[in-house]
Amino acid sequence: MRVLDDGAWISVDDDRKVRVSELWRLDASDLCDCALTDLVVENFQAVGVDGSTVEARVYGQCIACGEDGTTGWIPVGRVHGGSFAEIDRDAVRRPTDCSDG
Ligand SMILES: [Zn+2]
Repeated sequence: MRVLDDGAWISVDDDRKVRVSELWRLDASDLCDCALTDLVVENFQAVGVDGSTVEARVYGQCIACGEDGTTGWIPVGRVHGGSFAEIDRDAVRRPTDCSDG
């Protein structure tokens, strides 16, 4: 599990699985004030695994308001039975580091 090509890809078992330039919908207030952030993924800053959830910190821009910045840990997929499954691209993603409060 790592980031390749200066943040352009997330690699799982040396297989390129998730790439930038996708549009993610985030239910997160850390990047901008929109109710849902329409995030254009520009760069993966870091990738990690929390249990079965693969998550990443992403640099990108909200196309609705133009704010850009780096997100918290956003789920990108799951490891299930040793294989990786990407989250539905239409799904609304919530940061996983929002502890209570
Ligand atoms: Zn926004």
